[in-house]
Amino acid sequence: MEILSRTIEATTEELDAIAGVLGVGSEQSSPRLRRRGASRRTLLLPVLHALRDEVGYISEGAVQEISEQMEVPRADIYGVASFYALLPTEPQPAKTVHVCVDMACRFAGGERLLGEVRSEVDADEVAVHESPCLGQCENAPAVYIEKTGESRVSITDATGQKVIKSLNAVSPQTGAEDSSTAHRMADIIEQFPVSPQTGAEKTAAEGFSNSTLRAYCIGEPRLLGRIINGTSPTLEGYGNFRALRAALENGREWVLENLETSQLRGRGGAAFPAAVKWRAVAEAQEPVRYVVANADESEPGTFKDRLLMESDPFALIEAMVIAGFATGAQKGYIYIRDEYPLACAHIEQARLEAQAAGLLGENPGGGDFSFHIELRRGAGAYICGEETALFNSIEGYRGEPRNKPPFPTESGLFGKPTLVNNVETFANIPLILNDGAQAFAQIGTEQSRGTRLFCVSGACEQPGTYEAPLGTPLSGLLNAAGATDSARVLLGGAAGAFASQDQQDVPLSFEDTTASSLTLGSGAVIVIDPKADMGDLLGRITDFFVDESCGQCVPCRVGTVRQQESVARIRANGESPSELSLLDDLDAVMTDASICGLGQTAASALRSARHAKLF
Ligand code: SF4
Repeated sequence: MEILSRTIEATTEELDAIAGVLGVGSEQSSPRLRRRGASRRTLLLPVLHALRDEVGYISEGAVQEISEQMEVPRADIYGVASFYALLPTEPQPAKTVHVCVDMACRFAGGERLLGEVRSEVDADEVAVHESPCLGQCENAPAVYIEKTGESRVSITDATGQKVIKSLNAVSPQTGAEDSSTAHRMADIIEQFPVSPQTGAEKTAAEGFSNSTLRAYCIGEPRLLGRIINGTSPTLEGYGNFRALRAALENGREWVLENLETSQLRGRGGAAFPAAVKWRAVAEAQEPVRYVVANADESEPGTFKDRLLMESDPFALIEAMVIAGFATGAQKGYIYIRDEYPLACAHIEQARLEAQAAGLLGENPGGGDFSFHIELRRGAGAYICGEETALFNSIEGYRGEPRNKPPFPTESGLFGKPTLVNNVETFANIPLILNDGAQAFAQIGTEQSRGTRLFCVSGACEQPGTYEAPLGTPLSGLLNAAGATDSARVLLGGAAGAFASQDQQDVPLSFEDTTASSLTLGSGAVIVIDPKADMGDLLGRITDFFVDESCGQCVPCRVGTVRQQESVARIRANGESPSELSLLDDLDAVMTDASICGLGQTAASALRSARHAKLF
């Protein structure tokens, strides 16, 4: 118990924002009613979001109020708020502009745009920040704007003029050039209804594409089928949960066996066999279980899950209900990165429609089980894409990874058996059940079945989301995207590796990339102009890991900073044996001794660049 006395009261506005989540209004605030908020730690992040949305920052008075209502120490609440880049703890101007300076946006003039915006706005009215990847790489450069009490806006193919126009607009704008949404979910849904896409093209000679959405297929579209054909966004157009009905008719074991036959491996980066996770949760002794969709797509250069959620949202909802049925879980969470307001809105609308149609909630589709889904917004922390950090974030703690084992299937969210899959992994489930597991398993290679979504960005004529059978040669993908032969390629994002010139034909499968010391990772394929300044690019990658390390373990917290300093010295003074030896030591220590994948992969892009003689 804290013994500090209350010194600063929350304002009425803050009390109302807190009440919007915890359920006690400023009018009714009393110690007895406040106690109702106790032990609801999992609502901490939603409360902090409400304050950011309505008030602009997390004040001392608000922290005090939350502390009393939730019975969580003030220091603990401050520790959580200060963990997230998008939850300021100091007063802010009413408008904040985040300009992406990560790889694809950097190539498209992101830094120049940052300078332009800074010089155009009044710093007392608008805060301007550099941002890590905003997940809009196929539409670079990208900007994300927060207006307190008003809206959250993504601007793609951004220019200084577009940003200023958006800042001056009174309410959220619509239109082809911007993807704009208000932060309040009801407002978002009203303003951005999910409606059939236009502009779909089907040109069999060149493959299939929907250039409006920058979605392309090499071969027959499967995951992108509805997006390519422009039929996805309504419940009817989606197909009314046909796979769920088949699952209910044939039983849980049928679902699990189909998943085993399909040999589907996770699409988030680790490539773990999906069926092993599903069965482990289904056979857990503990009756309370969870299903979690990891939609915190933050790896630089990755944007495919955003496209799926924005333009085919029912696939994720249906897959999660099937997962609930097959594993015996009663509750699911979708954890979406906050920089995806449109995806957030469309998933929420799909969730509500599915619920209204009796396909989610009590006895979905007529089944004898119940399954509810809740959306949770991330708050600008890359590390929350790590599954155990994501659990901590949902539970109301700092998004710091946990030691593994125990693995999530044994002890995950709230310490219960948890199935956690990436959005693309889930999106494959209805396809497998509808089209047959054998049909799925026939596509791809020995250890990599099915198709995969690749996010192609950077120096190419046609950036976008590409669906291709696993095992497609890298050169095939690069040709389809219009990259020049001499382009360099970073596979897997900041945590990935550069392919050397003699690796351009490597088959894009899990086994072939691993054998070539590359990775498919999250599906990022960043094409780099041969004339690009590699020192600048690698400097940016080292900055990224310094900013995003959660700081929990020494090898990563210190190693990422030492790596950043060493690269800066090499850029300034040229390389030396001692500097290169230091980089080797840091690489070994971070890879071997870090708790989680962030530290373990923080040196991999640099290592591969040196190996390919790009730096
Ligand atoms: Fe945090 Fe880095 Fe350690 Fe992961 S490796 S737990 S991100 S400090």
